[in-house]
Amino acid sequence: MLDSGDIGPGQDRTTTVEKGSFSTARCTCGWYGPARRARGLARDDAAAHVTARHSPSDTSDSSDSSD
Ligand SMILES: [Zn+2]
Repeated sequence: MLDSGDIGPGQDRTTTVEKGSFSTARCTCGWYGPARRARGLARDDAAAHVTARHSPSDTSDSSDSSD
C-alpha cells in the first residue's frame, strides 16, 4: 500500500523540500525552485522546470513548425 505515493512516471526527478511553512522544489540536476507557501505551487515549479529543462522530446534539430 502506498499512502504517500503521488509521483507519476518520470516525475521522480524532482522533489519538494519543506522548510518551515515554505516548500521548495528541488531537482536531481541541482536546480532549486523558489520558496512557496503551498506545496502544490512548488510541485508546479518542479513540473515547469522538468518540462523546460528535461523535456522528453529534446529533438531541437528540425524546428520546422508552421506556426
Ligand atoms: Zn532539473
